[in-house]
Amino acid sequence: MDTLIRGGTVVTAAGQRRADLRLVGERIAEIGAGLAANGGERVVDAGGLLLLPGGVDGHTHLDMPIAPDCATSDDFYTGHRAAAFGGTTTHVDFANQQRGQSLRETLTAWQRRAAGKAVIDYGFHLTIVDPTEAVMAEMAELPRWGVSSIKLFLAYKARGMMLDNEQFFRLCRRAAELGLLPLVHAETGEIVDLLEREAIAVGRVEPRWHATVHPALAEAEATQRAIALARMAGSALYVVHVTCRGALAAIAAAKAEGAVLYGESCPQYLFFTEDDLARPEFEGAKFVCSPPLRSEADQAVLWQALANGTLDAFSTDHAPFRFHDQKARGRERFDMIPNGVPAIEHRLTLLWHFGVNQQRFSPERFVALTATNPARLLGLAPRKGALQPGADGDVLLWDPNATWAISAATHEMAVDYDLWEGVAGRGKPHAVWRRGALLLEGGQWFGEAGRGRYLQRKTATQNGNG
Ligand SMILES: [Zn+2]
Repeated sequence: MDTLIRGGTVVTAAGQRRADLRLVGERIAEIGAGLAANGGERVVDAGGLLLLPGGVDGHTHLDMPIAPDCATSDDFYTGHRAAAFGGTTTHVDFANQQRGQSLRETLTAWQRRAAGKAVIDYGFHLTIVDPTEAVMAEMAELPRWGVSSIKLFLAYKARGMMLDNEQFFRLCRRAAELGLLPLVHAETGEIVDLLEREAIAVGRVEPRWHATVHPALAEAEATQRAIALARMAGSALYVVHVTCRGALAAIAAAKAEGAVLYGESCPQYLFFTEDDLARPEFEGAKFVCSPPLRSEADQAVLWQALANGTLDAFSTDHAPFRFHDQKARGRERFDMIPNGVPAIEHRLTLLWHFGVNQQRFSPERFVALTATNPARLLGLAPRKGALQPGADGDVLLWDPNATWAISAATHEMAVDYDLWEGVAGRGKPHAVWRRGALLLEGGQWFGEAGRGRYLQRKTATQNGNG
C-alpha cells in the first residue's frame, strides 16, 4: 500500500524542512509541502515527528562462524529484526574467505546464510585472507557481483588472516584498478599475537589481559602503515572500528594531506573502557572485542572526531555471542573468548541521545554518520541513505520525545546480555519503512523473513568517481 506521511520535519545530511513525503511502491515518489492525498493510500500524521533516512550499518557480523560449533548468535532474521527496531534498514556484512576458497564460493556461501531470512536490505564486503594469483584475477568479478569493497586484516596472524605489507599493498593496488574500496582492520598482528602468547604462558588468563595485549599503539602503528601503503598503491582506504587517539591522529593528518581516506567508529568504544574488562565474575568477557575498549580520554576524542569529520561513519561491528555458553568458552583463558559485542539495535538511539540530545552535533550530522556517508562510501547511494525522490522508501518516523531504557530482558537481539543494561535516553523510531513496506510501528512488528534484498553495490568507477 502507498503511504503519505504528512506534517513532519524531513532531516537529511544537508538540512531540515517541514515537508510531506509520499511512498509509492518501493520508492520515495515525492517530498514537498502540502502534498494532496490521492485516495487509496494510507495517510500518516507525522506532526511533531522527524523523518530520517533508514540507517545504514556498514559493519556487522550476522551468523558468522568462528568455530565448527560456534557462530554469532544473531542470524539474518533476528539480527535484521533487531536492526529494524533500532532504525537500521540496510547493512553491509562480511563474506569471509577461507584459505583455498575462491571469492565466488565465499560470496555464495554467505548469500545462502541470508536467503529466506533477510528482512532489511544487505550487501557483503569480501574479506580476502588468501590473495593467490587466482584470487587477484577473480577480484575483477566483484563489481559485477555487486561487491564494491574488500576487507583486509593487518591483525590475527595466528588465525591465518593477517596480510603482510606486500600482500596488503598489492591488494590495495588491485582494488584501485577496479574501483573497489579496501577496508582495513588495523592492529600490528605480529606483536599482538606475541603479547597474547606471553600473557597466557605466565598465567595472565583473565579477560582484562585482552586489553593489555592489544595496545593502542598497535592500532596507531597499523593505521599509520595501512594509510601509507594504500597511498603508495594509489588506493582509497576505509579504516574500520577506530578506537584511539593515535589512530585518529594518523587519519586526521593524512586527510589534511588530501588522502582519500575514511574512518568509522562504533558505540562500544564511546561508552566503555578497559576497566569494564576487569568486571568480576567473568563479566568482563561481555566486553571483549578487538580492538579492545580503551580509555575515557579516547572516548572524548572519538566524540570530537565524529563531530568534526575525522570520522565519517558510525557502524556497530555487531558480533553477538551469548554470555552463558559462548563467551564462556574463554573462562579458563581470555584468548578463547569469542571476540565481539551486540550493538546493532542500539546504534541510532545511543548516538541520537548522547550525540544530538547532548548537543555534541546536529541532527544533520547524525544522519550523515548513520546513513548518508556509509551509503555513499559503500556504493549504495543514491538508493540508500538519503530522503529524496527516486530513492528507496527506507524511512524512519523518528519521535525525538519518546523515551527508552535498555535491557537484555526487552531487547530484540538474540543474546542474553546487553552492554547498555539500564541505560536510558530519548528519541527512537516510532515507525520504520523498508522500500515502502511498513516493518514496525508503535512497537508492533510487521516485518517478514525473506523480504530483505541483496544489494548490488556500485564501485567508485561505476559511480563515475573513479
Ligand atoms: Zn568486524
